[in-house]
Amino acid sequence: MLSFRVGFDLGGTKLAGVLVDQNLKPVASCFVPAPTHGQWLGEAMMDVIGRLCMTAKIVPGQIEAVGVGLPALIAPGGAIQSCAHLPSLVGMDIQNEIQSAGRWRVHLENDVNCAAVTAMANHGSSFLLLTIGTGIGGALVEDGNLRRGFRGFAGEFGHMVIAVGGDQCVCGKRGCAEVYASGSFLASRARRAMEQGRLNEIPDDADATSITWTKRIFEIAATNLVANRIVEEFCSYLAVVISNLIEATDAKMVLIGGGVSASFDLFEEQLNHAYLLAMPSDRLRQDIVFQAIEFGPLAGAIGAAAIA
Ligand SMILES: [Zn+2]
Repeated sequence: MLSFRVGFDLGGTKLAGVLVDQNLKPVASCFVPAPTHGQWLGEAMMDVIGRLCMTAKIVPGQIEAVGVGLPALIAPGGAIQSCAHLPSLVGMDIQNEIQSAGRWRVHLENDVNCAAVTAMANHGSSFLLLTIGTGIGGALVEDGNLRRGFRGFAGEFGHMVIAVGGDQCVCGKRGCAEVYASGSFLASRARRAMEQGRLNEIPDDADATSITWTKRIFEIAATNLVANRIVEEFCSYLAVVISNLIEATDAKMVLIGGGVSASFDLFEEQLNHAYLLAMPSDRLRQDIVFQAIEFGPLAGAIGAAAIA
């Protein structure tokens, strides 16, 4: 009997689930709203597993392992020690809950580590990774080594301040990168323009955090001046974040992951242009390679399945 694995990636607003075969090839995937409390995560994951099995026409008994990528600091053994976006997860035994529900092998891992595993399998052993969705996560991998830092918090690029006294961030600081260079920024700017009657080409009833809704902003930017200005602003902020990171790391390749990576080909040119403006007189570091991570918004979930 064929065996499969399931991978999860919990983001700020979405829970991504993917079913992969023995070669880690995705055979079914889905995105559902992220639970707003840790106690509902197990239930949400069981629901996703049911949907994936139905889509792929398999039974849960054919799943051998479940990998879960969380935006959290996880101790060896699976204890959740810190989770900025869903603090109620701290201390919960998600691993045991899922394990006892399906008798699967279950492994919890930091979400960016999961995306880095997929990136290493597809893009080589040295890169800077930015996962851009509701917020911004990140990783620096050099010669196959993921920089974890003294306490394991390395790669929190989204909480580097790029605007002193700027807008409030969920972390308590003001002016963080993820307030300006994230999917949330695109959605809030577009929403505001719609309320002011300046942007009418995006369906008003859509889920403003969905990947397709964000993609629509990039799609209409070619012909709509208001959308184009929003994308330009997003790219300018993202370019500043990247140029700061290049100063700190001297990385050669920058991978874009997360929900926004589904639209990468629609803003790649503008990002390259903004990056050259952010690094004006530095010819040596203007040849940075920007790429969307393989499997785009599913990269983290596929990495979680690979590690499980
Ligand atoms: Zn912050």
